[in-house]
Formats: sequence, structure tokens, C-alpha cells
Amino acid sequence: MTEDRLQELRGQVDEINLKLLDLLNQRAKVVSEIGKVHAHLGNTFYDPVREGQMLQALEMANLGPFSNETIKALFREIFRASMALEESQTKAKIKVQRKAPGERTIITMPDGVTQIGNSAFQIIAGPCAIESMEQMDETAAALAERGVKFLRGMAYKPRTSPYEFQGLGEPGLKIARQVADKYGQFIVSEIMDKSQLQMMFDYVDVFWVGARNMQNAYLLKALGQQQKPVILKHSFGATMEEFLYAAEYIVSSGNPNVILIERGIRSFEKWTRAGLDIGAVAALKLETHLPVVIDISHSAGRRDIAVPMARAAKAVGVDGLMVEVHPNPPVAMSDSKQQLYIQQFHEMMDALGELTVVGSGD
Ligand code: PEP
Ligand code: MN
Repeated sequence: MTEDRLQELRGQVDEINLKLLDLLNQRAKVVSEIGKVHAHLGNTFYDPVREGQMLQALEMANLGPFSNETIKALFREIFRASMALEESQTKAKIKVQRKAPGERTIITMPDGVTQIGNSAFQIIAGPCAIESMEQMDETAAALAERGVKFLRGMAYKPRTSPYEFQGLGEPGLKIARQVADKYGQFIVSEIMDKSQLQMMFDYVDVFWVGARNMQNAYLLKALGQQQKPVILKHSFGATMEEFLYAAEYIVSSGNPNVILIERGIRSFEKWTRAGLDIGAVAALKLETHLPVVIDISHSAGRRDIAVPMARAAKAVGVDGLMVEVHPNPPVAMSDSKQQLYIQQFHEMMDALGELTVVGSGD
């Protein structure tokens, strides 16, 4: 065995490597075409039966010296890479997906001044539900004092029990509209069904889709066919990817003005109402160009941690927070444990004012 022989054999390996490289890329091109057909047919990319058949065929054709196990392991790796390629191609087509660092959707409200999605940290606040003119007026006045532009005007409440307060309905919306106009605020209000769209349209500035309706595709499509902004809540039982696909329903139907609101997911923890994964929120901001807001009320389920929650929301670099505020929380008709007293709301605003966040992170 001479040095020359070694060089010759290495040369052969180099040549085979290049052929393998070429074949792998040829295969990737075919796979990517298959991906397009799958996407068109609405199929999932992973087809275990087809994968099993390919492995079996390879085993039958294998003459060694590699063992069948080694061949299968190598090809499984190729299959995995192919599937990742198919998936990344589909993802690149998703409208809500951020395509470049720093890409952001900025939503400008009809006053031409109020924006969400730029560097400002917007506060969306108000009672859990509209209960009376007095309750809305007192809350809105306090919020307006601190410059809050987005007022919760919830007239339909998706309660866990059908025997609990379900909201005031249209008479409630009338109250909310009147109060919001008095203080120069925008009404955000939950829509439960697409049949309510026309009636709610004149009262509401921002439509709100609650956690329980996040995957109501018909409602999402209907909201995509009008231009008022939509706040979409993360369902407590959905992944972030499912959340983004739900937003995609609205955007792909023609309405780019979508705000995502994170409210935590169901977990085994009892000290808070829902598990707010701050890391997942940070990742969400990287994955999407849509504005993201954190709901510190339904995630915490309690008012005594509002200040640290609010500071955490601001520090993580989202576009705002949502908090429930009520003039007299203990007698509130819903979510009485988590709504802030007006005084607590002021304390929260003071604490946020003291917090300087350097750089948005995007
Ligand atoms: C709400 O914010 O009004 C609400 C009902 O919360 P969720 O949909 O997150 O339960
Ligand atoms: Mn509530």
C-alpha cells in the first residue's frame, strides 16, 4: 500500500461524494414537487406507509457491504431532511410568518394617530364585561386619564357554565359606544359567531375572537372579509403554530390587521389560571410580524401579581398588554378575582412607566 494508492482511493471517494451530492439534490427537487402536490391536495407531509414501502424496497435491493439497519438509518435521515424541506417551503408561503428580521405589521386606527405594532406599548383595558353605564363610565374615565385608547366593551361572554352571566348583548354595546366616544377611545369587543358581524359592526372598532373560538374557521374567514382590526386570542389548548394558522385564516381571507393576544395555556399549576410561557411569546414575536399582546388577567387569574406580570410583558418586547379593570371587582358579574381595582390599575401604570426597555429585540 503506497501513499499513491491512498490518494487514488481518496480521489474515488471525493468523486462518489459529488455524485451523491448531486443525486441528493436531484431527489430534493423531486420531493419539493411532491410537497407542492401534497399542499395542493391539503395532505400532511408525513406518510408513514409510503416511508415503510421505500425502506422495504431498499432492504430488498441492498447487496452490502452496509447492513440493512445501516441503510435504513441513512435513508431515514434523508427522509427527515426531505420532510423538513417540504415543510419549510409551505411555511415560506404563510402570510403571517415573518420573512425578514424587523418586519412588522403596524395597525393604524381611524384617528390616524393610534397605532399598534410600532414601538409603542399599547394598553387594552376595561372590565371583563359591560355591566352598566356607570361601571363603564367610571372605568373608561380612569383609563383615559392614563392615555388608554383601547377599551374592553364586552357584551357577549363565553362563560364556562351556561347558567352564568352571558353579557348584556346589544344594549351593552350601545353603552360601550357612548362611553368610548365620550373619552375618545376605541371599543374592542368579542364576537362569538359570524351572524353577529353586521349588527356589531357599527358599535365596534376592533373585533375580538376569544380563546374558545380561535379555531372557528368560518368566523375567522368572515372577519377576514372585512377590514376592521381583529384581536385573536390564543386558545388555552393550542400550540403557537396552530395559533398562527388561525391568524392565517383571517389574513389570507383579505384582512391583514390582526393582533395576536397570548393568555396562557391550560397547565397543572393551580396558583395561576393559565400557564403563560414567556419563552413561547418571545419565539412568537420572532415567528410572526403581527403585533403581539399579553393578557395578564386571564393568564394570572388574580390581581395581586398584576405589576410583575405587566413588567414582564413589557420587558419581553411585545406590543402591549391587556388587563381587566373594574370599579368594584368583588361584585363584578364575571372574573371578579382577577379584575384590578382602579387604584391598582394606576399602580400598574406607574410601575410600567418606571420600566425602561432598551431595544425591542426585533
Ligand atoms: C376575555 O378576554 O374576555 C376572555 C373571555 O378571555 P379568554 O377568551 O382568554 O378566556
Ligand atoms: Mn374576563
